[in-house]
Amino acid sequence: MEERRYNPAGSSDMSRHDGALALAEQLQSTIEVCAGEVTALAEINSGSFNVAGVDRCGERLAELAEPLNPDVVEFVAVDPTITLDESGNRSETQMGHALRLSKRQDAPFRVCVFGHLDTVFPADHWFQRVERHGDVLRGPGVADCKGGLVIALHALRHLDRTAWGQQVGWEFVVVPDEEVGSHGSKALLAEVGSACQLGLGVEPALPTGDIAAARKGSLTVHAIFRGKPSHVGRAHAEGRSAIRAASKFVDRLEDLNEGGGLTVNCGAVRGGGPLNVVPDFAIASFNIRVLTDQDHLKIVEETSSLAAALTASTEVDITIDWIAARPPKQRSAAMETLLADAAEIGTRLGDPVIGRDTGGSCDGNDLAATGLVNLDSLGIRGGGIHSEDEFADLTSIPTRSAIMAYLIEQAAERHHTK
Ligand SMILES: [Zn+2]
Repeated sequence: MEERRYNPAGSSDMSRHDGALALAEQLQSTIEVCAGEVTALAEINSGSFNVAGVDRCGERLAELAEPLNPDVVEFVAVDPTITLDESGNRSETQMGHALRLSKRQDAPFRVCVFGHLDTVFPADHWFQRVERHGDVLRGPGVADCKGGLVIALHALRHLDRTAWGQQVGWEFVVVPDEEVGSHGSKALLAEVGSACQLGLGVEPALPTGDIAAARKGSLTVHAIFRGKPSHVGRAHAEGRSAIRAASKFVDRLEDLNEGGGLTVNCGAVRGGGPLNVVPDFAIASFNIRVLTDQDHLKIVEETSSLAAALTASTEVDITIDWIAARPPKQRSAAMETLLADAAEIGTRLGDPVIGRDTGGSCDGNDLAATGLVNLDSLGIRGGGIHSEDEFADLTSIPTRSAIMAYLIEQAAERHHTK
């Protein structure tokens, strides 16, 4: 799909870089405030399925955003997350609300800043508090992505103080379900993304400062096997083993891993029962990563033809349920320009930013699929994400905020002067 209205022509100028430097220096003096904001957000448990916690975190973020004077503050209900129950039936789980803040919705140039409220740590997990060790915060979600949310607040706040920034319309969309695939937020992201010309996401940067460029697509698929039970001693031959069919299916699908950009991982198998009965039910669940849209088509075709062939040979009924999919995000000329801009500003600030391709996926994938050019990991430098070793580097808040603010300013100027 063609990317919308982002004009990559034009050149950067020194005064802008001086502005970025001044902003980074000014934020350096408020680093304690920034640390307090990250800690406040991270100490509210907002595991994806902790609806009350996610909503509390959204309300806290809205309070922290009050100095931005947004024109619109909305808590948006999103669609439920779909999961598969023990019997292979789809079930729906209600999620918390997304937070949507906007300003100058009628501006000709609009940017979509995006992030998420949720973390991978449920309400009963032991990892709930934030500890500070010098310039490092250690705690749940400090990097992924509450540190990034604070960076976005400071970047957006700065826009009103610059000539070009005052002409920028912005949307700050923070979803409640990113860690479980943003299934319920896709419509909101598509609506907001299609109204903007540039997307900047606050997923964490790597500890080195590198950010994501291209990302693989990610698919979740469940294969459900229904065979025929029978007593092992009396009538084994009359049974049709769901587990045996599942094991063949897993083996053949994982054979597709050999070479290319396709990654197939069977992460869970459920099923069976008493050991003296031929098992008539099993579920094999996969996460699949694809480099290109062609890989995506290929794996969908291979999966359904494998299911048909095994159903015929084993007499076990096989149903394939594609629960969620994020398309691959590929490099483009407009993305290369953004990466070059980010690298240039980062170098000036002594915080180099290099774009690297990754196998991980995020909301940036879905936004790219709507045609919105975006960089999605302009958040805090950190690491150990999704683990109890999660940490964030506070020293990156001033520089990353300045990089975001001046990427927006630069893009706005180009848009108006093209
Ligand atoms: Zn994240």
